[in-house]
Amino acid sequence: MLNETKIQDFKARLRGELIQRSDPEYEQARQLYNAMIDKRPLLIARCADVADVIAAVRFGRENDLLTAVRGGGHNGPGLGSCNDGLVIDLSPLKGIRIDPAKSTVRAEGGCTQGEVDHATHAFGLAVPAGIVSTTGIGGLTLGGGHGYLARRYGLTIDNLIEADVVLADGSLVTASVSQHEDLFWALRGGGGNFGVVTSFLFKAHPVSTIFGGPVFWELKDAPTVMAWYRDFLPKAPVELSPFLHLGTVPATAPFPKEIWGKKNCALVACYTGPMEKAEEAVRPIRQELPPPILDWMGPMPFPALQSLFDPLLPKGLQWYWKGDFVRELPDQAIDLHREHIAKSPSDLSLMHLYPIDGAVHEVEPGGTAWSCRDATWSMVIAGIDSDPAKAEELKTWGRGYWQAVHPYNLGGAYVNFMMEEGDERIRATYGDNYDRLAAIKKKYDPTNFFRVNQNIKPA
Ligand SMILES: Cc1cc2nc3c(=O)[nH]c(=O)nc-3n(C[C@H](O)[C@H](O)[C@H](O)COP(=O)(O)OP(=O)(O)OC[C@H]3O[C@@H](n4cnc5c(N)ncnc54)[C@H](O)[C@@H]3O)c2cc1C
Repeated sequence: MLNETKIQDFKARLRGELIQRSDPEYEQARQLYNAMIDKRPLLIARCADVADVIAAVRFGRENDLLTAVRGGGHNGPGLGSCNDGLVIDLSPLKGIRIDPAKSTVRAEGGCTQGEVDHATHAFGLAVPAGIVSTTGIGGLTLGGGHGYLARRYGLTIDNLIEADVVLADGSLVTASVSQHEDLFWALRGGGGNFGVVTSFLFKAHPVSTIFGGPVFWELKDAPTVMAWYRDFLPKAPVELSPFLHLGTVPATAPFPKEIWGKKNCALVACYTGPMEKAEEAVRPIRQELPPPILDWMGPMPFPALQSLFDPLLPKGLQWYWKGDFVRELPDQAIDLHREHIAKSPSDLSLMHLYPIDGAVHEVEPGGTAWSCRDATWSMVIAGIDSDPAKAEELKTWGRGYWQAVHPYNLGGAYVNFMMEEGDERIRATYGDNYDRLAAIKKKYDPTNFFRVNQNIKPA
């Protein structure tokens, strides 16, 4: 039985804080990025170092507590927290060290995307990862990690060199291609199933000033833009990565007032090749499509592009996500996308198609746990709004939209774009890699201690 003496003893063993329900900081500490998820853990252990993580894992186990691991807290279904259990909160673990000679980056488990971008940019480097700076590097990496640099340099996991992991028995191991190779394979896409990653070592690439940003068209042009994008992408150089956005122009600066509230289709591009060739690289977007209602493409520091959407997406909004991997985009699917985005319940609700091609396809489906190497896009439909009263409407819209387009998509989805959707979806996502993951789970976490995640059951 968990009692106050045990809690006080645990608290005394931590260098970081232990937050309980009675503490004034509890309400703030338990909040997740997605305000649709309202979880009330018993204890939140803010880990200051690896020793704290080890102590927290041991305490969770010894007291049979449901235990969640929190990186950036950005997860859609709130898998960085739990009800009535222990949260191992990695947010104080912020160390980042760049080795410019080797082009590597060591980032601790509590770093956000923006913190890593900030540190690497000073050296003219970047690690391929996501497109919103507040996302945690922990959950993003372990789920796979895709963004503007994926076409050229692969997923975040394709740039992972090693990871320090606290296992379910409280021991610390380093996983890489030469140490605990099975664990290293599983970490690259298998999510938080295998342990707490306290630090990641990444390969970085020379990325500094990029040419990019969004170009918006009216929704009536979406079929033309989407069909063009579908045909253009396989021919586009890997230095150019455009993702497709369907949504509504937010009624706020810096968007011009005359287009506020307009349903729209956009391409958000990032060109990382030589700047003198940038205009030429994006020329097809500018010349082969109908006149846009807004063109904000231009040169900018990479971290500026990475934080472009931050002001629109602060913590505390309601989010309902549905994802799929997409291989083909037939005209019928395009029509359905247009029809459903036209009915979106809020200005922030969106559909994105992120390219999963180029360097991502260079890794075999069995090369890492992240198996869906033959998809062309990772799709996300997200119902988003600030008003909690809209939660049901966001869900209904998201589900209806997803049901309509899912028949054109693959069976699985990016684990980082899923709500809690059951074992079948998780199996469909990992495909032929599932059984190997279940066997590795049995080896490293036989009791399924780490189960607040897109869970892989021990074989
Ligand atoms: C606005 C927004 C934009 C996004 N954009 C992208 C994008 O461009 N590309 C992309 O790939 N994804 C993107 N995502 C999805 C994102 O990758 C997931 O939400 C991811 O789960 C966030 O990781 P986190 O550490 O912030 O989350 P948390 O909620 O803290 O954790 C998520 C899961 O990962 C586990 N976990 C986290 N850190 C660790 C760790 N160090 N060790 C072990 N387990 C851990 C948790 O236990 C939990 O199961 C975006 C999400 C949001 C909300």
